[in-house]
Amino acid sequence: MSALVSYDPATGEVVGQVEITDPNSIPAMVARAREAGEGWAAMSLTERRDLLLEAGKVIAANAEAIGEQLCREMGKPLREAIGEVRSCAHMADELDEMCEALAPEVIDDGRSRSTLYRDPFGVVAAITPWNFPFSMPHWMVLPSLMAGNAVILKPSEETPLTAQAYVDALNATLPEGVLQIVHGADVQGKALVNADVDLVAFTGSRAAGIHILTAAGQDLKRVILELGGKDPMVVLPGADLPRAASFAARNSFRNAGQVCVSTERIYVHQELYEPFLDALVAETAKLRQGHGLDEGVEIGPMINARQRDWVLRQIDEAVAAGARVLAGGEGHEGNFIRPTVLADVTHEMGIAVDETFGPVACVTPVADDAEALRMANDTPYGLGASVWGETERAEKVARGIRAGMIGINRSCGGAAGTPWVGARQSGYGFHSSKEGHRQFAQVRVLTTVADR
Ligand code: NAD
Repeated sequence: MSALVSYDPATGEVVGQVEITDPNSIPAMVARAREAGEGWAAMSLTERRDLLLEAGKVIAANAEAIGEQLCREMGKPLREAIGEVRSCAHMADELDEMCEALAPEVIDDGRSRSTLYRDPFGVVAAITPWNFPFSMPHWMVLPSLMAGNAVILKPSEETPLTAQAYVDALNATLPEGVLQIVHGADVQGKALVNADVDLVAFTGSRAAGIHILTAAGQDLKRVILELGGKDPMVVLPGADLPRAASFAARNSFRNAGQVCVSTERIYVHQELYEPFLDALVAETAKLRQGHGLDEGVEIGPMINARQRDWVLRQIDEAVAAGARVLAGGEGHEGNFIRPTVLADVTHEMGIAVDETFGPVACVTPVADDAEALRMANDTPYGLGASVWGETERAEKVARGIRAGMIGINRSCGGAAGTPWVGARQSGYGFHSSKEGHRQFAQVRVLTTVADR
């Protein structure tokens, strides 16, 4: 067997290993999924929900052990790791929302009576990243299954053990062959996209998304892309400065900045600029970094040396081009990067333009709302954003930001039932919500003459 070894990014210790999937075996796995999917698709939505609810109990019963493994494999603090697992265990509301979204719907205009069915596509390839290694598979696998599809999950090569734990928990109750897992890197991902699958649901980087869309386009496979971001935060006069600075620190450094909706750029009105920087530096100093298993740790390491080197290069280039280091910037050890605050960042610097995915808060002064908006929109990405200030003025600026999710005096995530959605080059499609669940189903319309 050829092994995919999983390492603790904080220490380099081996956490475990799985068998790498031979890419040549993937077509046979897809054929098996298609066969198993027939019985699965024939079940009712309620029958599928009930089986998945049982799987949720298996996750709940093992949440602490899976969370600890997640913490060691990915590096995030134990409390967040267990929280991530638990958030997927309690799936009753999600499953009910999926049942509602996917149920047949009748539309009668007095002359024609149509029934909209939301049928499975067949086999879904779900390809996921490492930064939320339990919830990212869940967000794509669960609605795929509820819609009656069979699924082949290809998780990140950085976090195979956590993904395997997810699949094992679901397979404790699912019929055989309905959910399978492919282990490996982009080679296995490419083989899966090129195999006879009907829908590719991908969460990951913009570069891989472009590659997948191009490959899937050859035979017009359905594609859902949830890609990266370069989220801006705008601070206007009238903002609650302590709250804004606390948010900026938490949202720039949470998960060591390895979050698709991390705050990566902060535009502050000139009159608040220096007080905001002081408050941000003070908030940054409060954060404790270390091994995720250690009590009180809030920030872990980068996932690997490649990601660490990318972030450090961005910091060094920005400093060489005139950015001021107000916190961190040096004293990094192993895969740990100290939370770093950079002031006077300009859009001539790569760090203001390319997704960083690391613990760096980049701050830029702006003269007025129009300049803040122009700079916030100066990116091909459009995932999240936040605007801080007096509500009416902040809402006006927020409406001008070309992003999918914008928070006003808070983070960008919406109320329960709203989608997780990117705009522009942050992707095609969205997670969660009725609209999100419906992406995993083929709409078919049957029409009869209406009864008069
Ligand atoms: P990545 O694109 O390098 O890898 C993601 C997955 O795709 C992995 O499983 C990888 O093996 C596979 N892969 C890579 N190239 C492929 C190809 N050409 N064909 C098929 N599969 C391929 O991303 P990553 O480093 O694992 O994750 C970080 C990225 O994910 C960031 O850009 C982040 O913003 C993004 N992300 C987005 C969201 C969202 O909701 N929009 C959520 C989490 C992460």
